[in-house]
Amino acid sequence: MLTGQHFIAGKWVKGDATFSSSPATGSAHEFAVGRVADVNVAAEAAEAAFEIYGYSSREDRAAFLHAIADEIDVLGDQITDMGVQETGLPVARLQGERGRTTGQLRLFAERIVSGEYLDRRFDEALPDRAPLPRPDMYMVQRPIGPVAVFGASNFPLAFSTAGGDTAAALAAGCPVIVKGHSAHPGTGELVAQAIEAAIKRCNMPAGVFSLIQGGNRQVGQALVQHPFVKAVGFTGSLAGGRALFDLCAARPEPIPFFGELGSVNPMFVMPEALKNRAQELGKGWAGSLTMGAGQFCTNPGIAVMLDNADSRAMIEAASAALSEVPVQTMLTDGIADAYRSGVAAMDESGIKPVLRTEDSRGRSALPNLFTVSAQTWLDNPTLHHEVFGPLGLVVLADSVEQMVKLARHLEGQLTCTIHLDDGDYAACQKLLPILERKAGRLLANGFPTGVEVNDTMVHGGPYPASTNFGATSVGTLSIRRFLRPVCYQNIPKALLPKDLD
Ligand code: NAP
Repeated sequence: MLTGQHFIAGKWVKGDATFSSSPATGSAHEFAVGRVADVNVAAEAAEAAFEIYGYSSREDRAAFLHAIADEIDVLGDQITDMGVQETGLPVARLQGERGRTTGQLRLFAERIVSGEYLDRRFDEALPDRAPLPRPDMYMVQRPIGPVAVFGASNFPLAFSTAGGDTAAALAAGCPVIVKGHSAHPGTGELVAQAIEAAIKRCNMPAGVFSLIQGGNRQVGQALVQHPFVKAVGFTGSLAGGRALFDLCAARPEPIPFFGELGSVNPMFVMPEALKNRAQELGKGWAGSLTMGAGQFCTNPGIAVMLDNADSRAMIEAASAALSEVPVQTMLTDGIADAYRSGVAAMDESGIKPVLRTEDSRGRSALPNLFTVSAQTWLDNPTLHHEVFGPLGLVVLADSVEQMVKLARHLEGQLTCTIHLDDGDYAACQKLLPILERKAGRLLANGFPTGVEVNDTMVHGGPYPASTNFGATSVGTLSIRRFLRPVCYQNIPKALLPKDLD
């Protein structure tokens, strides 16, 4: 089934060297290490493909997106089985993620056909206007050119080879070059095989999609700096995203870098809700915190509440539920090590553990729960950052005013959550305007894990949640990232882009 090769401009390409995959279960496979020369071939083919694909009809692009979804369905369980082996994520989770991946391809296909996403505008000519007449003017969003995509280890399907960034760029009319994630190269290759079948079925230009496997950081760095690459969609860590963002900004021609990075996704548990529902909230939080071994970008890592008997009840309920969670497998050895380091850093800072599990070995992980006073949190910026994994931190405030003060000190977040009951409205009126400036998505009385793919979703937020706070990487609005507005002034109708129809 696996060639272990790159898929570049319609051809399977061997490398000079190989790297071994490191699956959680099953046997390892060898994959070609990416080379800078592969980047050059893929980028040139993508630029050539753009001359056709960038001017294709919305109907043709929609048919292509549907075909990719159909071909992923054909490979079906082969893809999810490989994903399960490589990531250690449960079967049900990856089956759901496969459905989400094909669902978002089909949703984007439906949305582009209507053309609404193009925000088409028209100013009629005013030939008799004095002192100067005005010609007719049209505005429409145009695709920007080849897009580089980097997926994350924790979403081997929905944020990877044919994931949200790829679907959005292809929907917009942009060819895509994926830098494969070294944590799931086999899953990436199988999805590339599905895309290859769709390219053939829809007679698309060969350079419309390429996958260059990892194993070499120079590949990603060369890709974001290639002159033919006009934007980057990235999902991953703050360190990796920032390094590539800086390269994009330093190019002779800087390009947009849409990085979706990490977040601690704070929850504010308001006094009435805490009094009325401490047990339920503690248990619910534990469930959200340990979903997928806590390896979700929307994992609610911090819960802020008043320091009183009600919060003690919630902490107790959370701790009891967390202590029943069995050992889970983390995505990579590196992520498991980083989780253990994050827990150890809490110990070293003298933060009080409520539930401190034994350090596990290899890729296994157990949840940990700590509490800290709001003042200590405010004084210690290292506590403001994401620890990727099932680690919860309760921040205990002296007053609602201190909760509001803490909100002002938050970095940019993907999500902020408020748990509230009727008596909490006055306090929430102070909190919401602050949280609105901090996060892409605000939610009440729920948990942020589980991101809908629809027309209203915003999955982004001020830095460091993302590198571009005006954008989302999930939902139909994500297509907008790979378009730019062009005004056509006095251009004869026959020469205007087809998308204006
Ligand atoms: P990662 O280590 O940053 O890797 C992401 C991709 O970037 C990989 O292809 C990786 O290459 C590449 N990369 C990283 N650093 C690089 C560098 N310095 N130069 C060139 N390429 C580089 O992230 P991850 O561990 O896969 O994902 C986990 C993180 O993603 C967590 O922090 C999580 O919160 C975040 N995440 C965010 C979202 C969101 O939507 N905001 C969604 C999911 C996950 P290799 O293959 O060589 O490692």
